Amino acid sequence: MHSKKLKEQPQDALTEVMARYAVAVTDEVMETINPGDPNDPVARQYLPSVEELNTTPQETADPIGDEVHAPVKGIVHRYPDRVLLKPVHVCSVYCRFCFRREKVGPGSEALSPTELEAALGYIRATPKIWEVIVTGGDPFVLSPRRLLMLMQELNKIEHVKVIRFHTRVPVADPLRVTQELVEALASEKAVYVVLHCNHANELTDKVRAAAQLFLQSGIPLLSQSTLLRGVNDKAETLEELFRALTALRIKPYYLHHPDLAPGTSHFRLPLAEGQKLTAALHGRLSGIAQPHYVLDIPGGFGKIPAGSTWIEENDDGYTVTDYQGGKHTYRDE
Ligand SMILES: *Cc1c(COP(=O)(O)O)cnc(C)c1O
Ligand code: SF4
Repeated sequence: MHSKKLKEQPQDALTEVMARYAVAVTDEVMETINPGDPNDPVARQYLPSVEELNTTPQETADPIGDEVHAPVKGIVHRYPDRVLLKPVHVCSVYCRFCFRREKVGPGSEALSPTELEAALGYIRATPKIWEVIVTGGDPFVLSPRRLLMLMQELNKIEHVKVIRFHTRVPVADPLRVTQELVEALASEKAVYVVLHCNHANELTDKVRAAAQLFLQSGIPLLSQSTLLRGVNDKAETLEELFRALTALRIKPYYLHHPDLAPGTSHFRLPLAEGQKLTAALHGRLSGIAQPHYVLDIPGGFGKIPAGSTWIEENDDGYTVTDYQGGKHTYRDE
C-alpha cells in the first residue's frame, strides 16, 4: 500500500507512469524527504508509483466536472458569485493525486494573451462575479511581472471585491515567493492566498519564511489539504498539521476528500473513514484549527460538507451527538 522507493519498482511500469502523468519535484521537496523511510509522507505525494497505472471504473479525467461549467477558456463558473480563473496549467511539482492531473503538465501552455483577455472580458461583463479564484496549474509559477499585469486588470473591475489565489508554490517551491511576487499582489480589494499542504513535515523553515512574507504584507493565508491514504490518514497526523498551520497564522480552510482522478485509488479512503477521522478532530483540536471536510460531487455539482451527521431529526425533536459519541435530545421550543 505504501510507496516503494523508486529503484524498487519495475522500471518499465514506472516509465509508463511518467509518460502518462507529469512528474516534477523541487530541491526543497527532496530535502524534506527522509530517504531511509519507505513510507515517507512527502515522498508519497510527489514521487511516481506504479500504482498509478491502476484505474477504477469510477475515476474520470474531469472528476469534479469543471468542463461542464467553462463558458470561455480558462474560466470555470459553477457558483453564481465566484469563478475560477486558470491562467496557467503548469506547476512547480506534480502531486500524484492531483484532480487535474489530465490537464496539468509541462506541455500544457498558459492562456495566450488573447485567451486571457477573453477570460477577463467574461469577468468584466458578469457583474454577479464577486470573487475571482486564481488557480491552475499554479498561478505562482507566473513571474511577478505577469502577476502584476493580471492584478492590474482585476483591480480595475469594480464588482470584483475578493481575489483569491490557490497555490502549492509556498510549500513546494518556497524560494519563488519573493518580496517582488508578494508586492505584485497589492490591491485595494481583499486578497487571500490559500496554500496547499498535506503534512506537517512540509512546513520547513523556508516554507515558514515564505508564509511570513505574505502575512507581513497584510495578505491573510488559508490552507487546503487533501485527505490521503498513507500521508495524513490518522487523527494525530491531521491534528499536528492543523496545529502547525494555525500556529503559523495559516487558517485551515478545507480538507478535501480525495477526488476520483485517474490512477489515484491507492490514495483514497472510504468516506465513512474520513467522517470518523474528522469527527475525532472535533474533540482534540481548537475550533480555529478545524478545516471544513468537503466532498466535491463528481459531475460538477459543487462541494458539500462531508463530515459526520451530528444532528438527526426524530419525532421528539433531534438527537445530537457530542464529540465523544454521547447522544442527547434537543428540542426547538
Ligand atoms: C472549489 C471551487 C470554488 C471555490 O469554492 P469555495 O467553496 O468558495 O472555496 C469555486 N468554483 C469552483 C468551480 C470550484 O471547484
Ligand atoms: S500543485 Fe495543484 S494543480 Fe499542481 S499538481 Fe499539485 S494538486 Fe495538481
